[in-house]
Amino acid sequence: MSPITIALSKGRIFEETLPLLKAAGVVPRDDPETSRKLIIATSRPEVRLIIVRASDTPTYVQYGAADMGIAGKDVLLEHGGDGLYQPLDLAIAACRMMVAVPQGFDYAQAVKQGARLRVATKYLQTAREHFAAKGVHVDLIKLYGSMELAPLVGLADAIVDLVSSGNTLKANNLRAVEEIVPISARLIINVAALKLKRAAIQPLIDAFAKAVAR
Ligand code: ATP
Ligand code: MG
Repeated sequence: MSPITIALSKGRIFEETLPLLKAAGVVPRDDPETSRKLIIATSRPEVRLIIVRASDTPTYVQYGAADMGIAGKDVLLEHGGDGLYQPLDLAIAACRMMVAVPQGFDYAQAVKQGARLRVATKYLQTAREHFAAKGVHVDLIKLYGSMELAPLVGLADAIVDLVSSGNTLKANNLRAVEEIVPISARLIINVAALKLKRAAIQPLIDAFAKAVAR
């Protein structure tokens, strides 16, 4: 069998992918939370995992450094999906990309007045497209994390961020005012690897698909 490299980020993607890997007969030999190893062998000698930053997963797969990977839709929207085949919505790491504002801020009114909004986000592409489609003028401010802070200290009027329970927004006196897109993790595959290593890759896709449908 051809060797197969699967790119994963640690944290929720790794945790929620474990049952899917197990369904494909793949059990990691180390836990990335406790091990410092970035390359992890598995119960199947021809399958190895590499541990990458969540936003780097599509890059490793696009260039063929990994044959396949698991990445959030948010990350794929920003990356653009070049060179990637996306056969499966894995229905894990689910959340929503949303616009949020401080409790007292009248978002509908600001949009109606055509005011220029300052929006802080890690998701520039997605935010740009969303507001352009609505015809809302925005100044986008790129952040790398803790977007919730930006409106509280006058850096922005609004944020675009991922929301699951809404507890972080609530704890910071923010409220979600608009859903941009529902988010979940996707299986991504290098297009060339899919052709060259189909015999090894297709059974993994099938096992994941079966496990997701259960
Ligand atoms: P880092 O934490 O390294 O800055 P990250 O925030 O993108 O990067 P994770 O927090 O591990 O990495 O998130 C990985 C993926 O999980 C995201 O790309 C997204 O698809 C999904 N995700 C992020 N936040 C949530 C959430 N609150 N609930 C459910 N899924 C989420
Ligand atoms: Mg995070």
